[in-house]
Amino acid sequence: MAAWQNWAGNVDCVPQHIVRPEHESEIVEWLAQAADDDLGVRVAGSGHSFMPLVATDGILFDLSSLSGIARFEHDANRAWVRAGTTLHALGELLHPAGLALQNLGDIDVQALGGALGTGTHGTGSTLPNLSARVSGLRILRADGQLVVLREDTDPDGLRAARVSLGALGVVTAARIDLVPAYRLHERVERLPMDALLTELDERVAASRHFEFFWYPGRDFAEAKHLQPTEASENDLPDVKYERIGWSHRILPSVRDDRFLEMEYSVPAAAGPDCFREIRARIGSHHPDLQWPVEYRTLHSDEAWLSTAHARETVTISIHQGQGLPHEALFADAEAIFAEHGGRPHWGKMHTQNAQSLGALYPRFEAFQSLRREWDPDGRFMNPALRRLFEA
Ligand SMILES: Cc1cc2nc3c(=O)[nH]c(=O)nc-3n(C[C@H](O)[C@H](O)[C@H](O)COP(=O)(O)OP(=O)(O)OC[C@H]3O[C@@H](n4cnc5c(N)ncnc54)[C@H](O)[C@@H]3O)c2cc1C
Repeated sequence: MAAWQNWAGNVDCVPQHIVRPEHESEIVEWLAQAADDDLGVRVAGSGHSFMPLVATDGILFDLSSLSGIARFEHDANRAWVRAGTTLHALGELLHPAGLALQNLGDIDVQALGGALGTGTHGTGSTLPNLSARVSGLRILRADGQLVVLREDTDPDGLRAARVSLGALGVVTAARIDLVPAYRLHERVERLPMDALLTELDERVAASRHFEFFWYPGRDFAEAKHLQPTEASENDLPDVKYERIGWSHRILPSVRDDRFLEMEYSVPAAAGPDCFREIRARIGSHHPDLQWPVEYRTLHSDEAWLSTAHARETVTISIHQGQGLPHEALFADAEAIFAEHGGRPHWGKMHTQNAQSLGALYPRFEAFQSLRREWDPDGRFMNPALRRLFEA
């Protein structure tokens, strides 16, 4: 029986050791053990990646006991947060201090280290992914050396390490730039798909967060608009599709039904056309698809492996229920994404390798040099990472 399995149930593994460290020093000891026994090492967050990034038969670090806020820097609205802290727990810890994350994705159960490692993002054309708010990182390299990266002293190192899939080492804590706690007013609207497409730009620009889910079967869109507000729930009329509350409670959803997902980031200007092509292809070749296609916006940032590296971005996600055939659907979508210069979400399903990724990321080779320097023996590689970085 598998000792570790991801949320979607499509990846599992039986590591020789599963280690739950409470201190950095324990990780250092186990890294030395890994070198002595020539074992591979991976780190598990909350297991919400669909790609086999975490799987190992060597040593698996589960950082769930390395959690909580290590230190507030109140004068700068910043906090050092341990990497095993879930985004949900972080929201609840920040709120009493009057602080919040600038944005969140669709769920909040990810561990901070896992969310940063794959470039996890929410929606909003002025809002970058979570890792762009990281102004410091503590990383243990394969040789056990602690590297502390800071925006002011090592901006390039930070750009490399913000989104690094655990390929540079074990991230033990991150300094996160926060914002004053804020409330959001969420409005959800159902619209015919064609009607929404004619006014997409205006709607994207009108809300701090805008996204839509397109339901292929009935061809309607569920559009979500979220705006900061000073109002409270009591100010709302009794409208079914409206909510007001603190950002960390309004932004995330609960996803109980298991699915598989492919997501690509395309240049923002190509987003609407790319979506139209995906919609046409699903209509003609996958008319029975029940799961929605999600359309979000993402501000550019500088992390070398961010899917929004140096370009304004639209992300488009295709879902299929667990156990249902997804191969042809995902292959069709991936071909369309490729035509638009799409970059795959690191945690979601795709078929890219080191060669194709090198063409998508201008700083890919710089990342590779640092990875080889910090992990010369490939201690943090597993088959999935080898395909991404060594093929
Ligand atoms: C239901 C669902 C909804 C989702 N919604 C969104 C969304 O809205 N937006 C979005 O962008 N993505 C979304 N995702 C994808 C998800 O955010 C990413 O896959 C994310 O990486 C998962 O975080 P995790 O803690 O589960 O990490 P894991 O999947 O456990 O790990 C991810 C990667 O990070 C590495 N890692 C984890 N912790 C550390 C550490 N401390 N040091 C070094 N490496 C580490 C792992 O080795 C692995 O390579 C969703 C996924 C699911 C299943």
